[in-house]
Amino acid sequence: MLDLATRCVHGGRRATPGDPDLAPPLRRATTFLQHPGTHAATDGGDFDGPLVYGRYASPNVVEVEAHVAGLEGAGACVAFGSGMAALHAALTCLVGHGRRVAVPRQVYGGTSALLARELAECGIVALTYDIEAPGTLERALAAGATLVLAEGLSNPIVRVADLPDLAQRAHAHGARLLVDSTFASPIVQRPLEHGADFVMHSATKALGGHSDLLAGLLLGSAEDMDRVRGFRKRTGAVLDPAAAWLLTRGLATLALRVRAQCAGACRVAAALAAHPGVARVHHPSLPSDPGHARAQRLLASGLYGSVVSIELAAGDAATRPFVAALHLLQDAPSLGGVESLASIPRVMSHAGWSEQELRAAGIGPGAVRLAIGIEDPGDLVADLLGALDALV
Ligand code: PLP
Repeated sequence: MLDLATRCVHGGRRATPGDPDLAPPLRRATTFLQHPGTHAATDGGDFDGPLVYGRYASPNVVEVEAHVAGLEGAGACVAFGSGMAALHAALTCLVGHGRRVAVPRQVYGGTSALLARELAECGIVALTYDIEAPGTLERALAAGATLVLAEGLSNPIVRVADLPDLAQRAHAHGARLLVDSTFASPIVQRPLEHGADFVMHSATKALGGHSDLLAGLLLGSAEDMDRVRGFRKRTGAVLDPAAAWLLTRGLATLALRVRAQCAGACRVAAALAAHPGVARVHHPSLPSDPGHARAQRLLASGLYGSVVSIELAAGDAATRPFVAALHLLQDAPSLGGVESLASIPRVMSHAGWSEQELRAAGIGPGAVRLAIGIEDPGDLVADLLGALDALV
C-alpha cells in the first residue's frame, strides 16, 4: 500500500489522454444532458448513476468523495456543504428506529446544540456518556442507544477515545459507532480500521486546510452511504462544485500539512508544559496526558493531533489578555488551516454551556485552544511564551 502522502497526491482523479488536464477542471454545471433511459434511474431516492442534476451529484463532488473514501479505507463517501450538514445527515439517517444516540460529554458545542434543538424536536434522544468512563456508555446502550457518537480526538481538550472498546461495546448491543474525525484527519487516525462503522469530517478544517471553504464528509459502507446520498438529494445539503474543487486541491498537501502541524503541536505542548503560567496542557504527546498510551496505540506513529489546549494558571481573567498578546496566532475559531489560531472555547466552540457541563467536559475557566498551523514551531513557541510572560 502506498504511503498516505502519495495517496493524497495520486489517490484522486488521474489525467488520461482523453482528459489530459493534470490540474482538475472546475465543472460548475448544475444540469446535465440526458439520454433516453436515464430518467427511470432518477425516480428513486438514491440515484448513483450518470450525471443528471447538481443536487444529486456533480463531477468535482464525485471526484473528491472517491479520493477521501480511498484515504479513509471506506466503501463510499458523501459530501455536504458543511461539517454540521454531514453530522445532521448522520444523526438523522443512521440512528435507526430506536432514535437514541449516545453522545460523549467531551463533544463539539455545535454538535450538542444540534442534538438539543432540532434533533430533539424531531424526537431523537441524546444519551450522554463519558469517554473516560466506559460504564456510562453501557448505561446509554442499555437505555436503547442505536448509534454511538465519539470524537476520536475530542474538541477542545484532545481526549483520545478508545475506539476499539467503544466499537466492541456498541456492536455487542447491536448499535453502530460514528466517529467525528475532524481533529485527527485520515493522516492521524482512520477510525474504520479501529472498528468504527462511520466516519465524519468537517472538511472545513484540515482536509481543506486553507480556511477558504466549508465542507463536510460522511463515510461508511457503500450500502449505508447510498441511503445517506438519497437523504442528501432530498434535503439538498450537497457540497458546491467550487468548494469540492478547492477541497481536492487541499487534499494534495494534506499529509504534508498535517504532519507539520502535529510536529509543531508537540513542540508547543512541551514548551508550554514547562511554563509556570500554564496550569495544564492537554495534548496526548505528553507522557503525563491521560490519553498518551492510548494515542500510541491508536494514532499514526509520532502524530498526536494539531490542537493543543491549555489551562492558564490565572484562570478566566487571563484568557482574553493572553490571546490579545499573541502576534502570530490569531484570535479566530476553526483549526487545521495553514495559519495558527487561538480561541477561547467558553466563548466560542462551547459558548452557552453551563458551568457544570464545561467542568464535566474538562474545559476549565482558563481554557484556551491552540490550533497549530504550519509556521516554524520555534516562532510559535516564542510567540506563546512572549504572551505568557506579558501576563505577569
Ligand atoms: N465537528 C467538529 C469536531 C468541529 O470542530 C466542527 C467545527 O468546528 C464541526 C464538527 C462542524 O463543522 P463545520 O464548521 O464545517 O460545519
